[in-house]
Amino acid sequence: MAVEFRCRDVGVACKNVARAETAEELIAAVAAHARSKHGVELNQTLIDYAVTKVRPTGG
Ligand SMILES: [Zn+2]
Repeated sequence: MAVEFRCRDVGVACKNVARAETAEELIAAVAAHARSKHGVELNQTLIDYAVTKVRPTGG
């Protein structure tokens, strides 16, 4: 099941929507995006929070 993550769902003013086939791939993509676009290095706390915002694509 494909999944997606929207920056705005965690309160970031950003239109980015990351999509991947698995939650693990998605979090890796989100981590790379956060680092390159927001200058944020995801720690375990942020990853745990981001995981709660992962949703099925199109949901
Ligand atoms: Zn973003």
